[in-house]
Amino acid sequence: MKILLLGAGGFVGSHLVEHLIARGQHDVVGVDVAEDKLEGIAGPRFSFHVADIRCNPELIDRLIRDADLVVDLVAYANPSMYVSAPLEVFDLNFIQNLEIARRCMAHRRRLIQYSSAEIYGKAGTGAVCHEDTTDSVLGAVGKHRWIYATGKLLLERVLHAHGAAGDLEYTIVRPFNFLGSRIDYLVPAGAMGGPRVFPHFISALLSGGPIRLVNGGHVHRTFLHIEDANQAFQTLLDHPAETRNQIFNIGNPDNNVTIRDLAALMVQLYEELTGEPPVSRVEHVEGERFYGPGYEDGDRLPPDISKLTRLGWRPRYDLVTTLRETMQAYLESGAKTAPAEPNMTAVHSAPA
Ligand code: UDP
Repeated sequence: MKILLLGAGGFVGSHLVEHLIARGQHDVVGVDVAEDKLEGIAGPRFSFHVADIRCNPELIDRLIRDADLVVDLVAYANPSMYVSAPLEVFDLNFIQNLEIARRCMAHRRRLIQYSSAEIYGKAGTGAVCHEDTTDSVLGAVGKHRWIYATGKLLLERVLHAHGAAGDLEYTIVRPFNFLGSRIDYLVPAGAMGGPRVFPHFISALLSGGPIRLVNGGHVHRTFLHIEDANQAFQTLLDHPAETRNQIFNIGNPDNNVTIRDLAALMVQLYEELTGEPPVSRVEHVEGERFYGPGYEDGDRLPPDISKLTRLGWRPRYDLVTTLRETMQAYLESGAKTAPAEPNMTAVHSAPA
C-alpha cells in the first residue's frame, strides 16, 4: 500500500514515518514545510516533498490521487497561536483540511484525519470522554482559544456527514497529549506562550529558568508515550473495516496527572537523570498573561479507549517511563541553551 502522510515533518508525523519505515510493509510519501525532525530518518520506500499544502494544490492533488491511504496531520498545535492568530488557525485547521478531505473524496481515497482531544473542551460531568457519547463543552466566542477546537470539531462533523452520505471513507483520531522526543522546540528561559507544556518545563530545567504553572496548574492531562501512539496507528491500519467511519480516542487514561504534579515529577526525574537538583523554581502565572488575551483553559477528563482496545491495542508505557524517556532524549540532544523561537507560521503535525 502507498501511504501519504501530510504533516510528516512534525512531531507525530516524524515518529509515524520512523515506525512505518521500520515495519517496511508500505511505500510512504511525506509532505511538510520543514524536514528538520526527519533528520537521519530514511528508507528505500520513503520519499519526502518539502511543500506547503496551501501553496501546492496540484502537487497535493496528484499525491492524493496516487496514494491508497491519506493521513492528514497538518495543523497548528500551539495555544499561543489560537489567541494571537485565530483566523490563520481556522484557515489551516479547518479550510485547508477540508480541502484535503474533498480531494480524498474526488479520488475516492481513505482518509485518516488527526483531530484533537481538545474538541471535548472543558471537562463535563462524566468520568471519561467517550468518542460517541460525550458532549463538547467549549468556552465563549470571546475566548478565542476555542477556535482551534471549534474548527477541529466542525471538520469532524463535516467528515461524519460525508461518511453518512457515502462520499467518504474516513477514520478520525483524537490524540490525548502524545509525548516523546522531538515534541517541540525549546524556548529561552522565562519565555511566555509558544510550545506545549513539556517543552516549556524541560526548557526551564535545562536553562535554570522558572517553571511556570498557568492558573495554578490544577487542570489534568493524560500523557501517552509516542511509541504507544504509533502502535495505535498501526491498529487502525490493520483494521480498515472495523475503523471505517469511526472516531477513536488515543490516549492513556492511567497517565492522568495535574500540571502541578507533572512539574513536580519532572523536577524529581531531572535530579535522577543528571544527579543534580535543578536550579529552576516553580512560579505561578495567569493564563492570559502567559498566552495572551482570549486564552481560557479547561480541565480534561481521561479518554475512554475501549473502542481501540477491543481491536487489540493497549498502551504500555506508564507516566514515569514516558517522562523519563522523553527527558532523556532532550538531555542527550545536548540542548543546554534554549534557541530562539522558530517561525510561528510553520506547519507542524497534529496536536499531541
Ligand atoms: N502549561 C503550564 N505551563 C507552561 C505551559 C503550559 O502550566 O509552561 C499548562 C497549560 O495552561 C495547560 C497545560 O499546561 O493547562 C497543557 O498545555 P499544553 O499546551 O501542553 O496542551 P493542551 O492544553 O493542548 O492539552
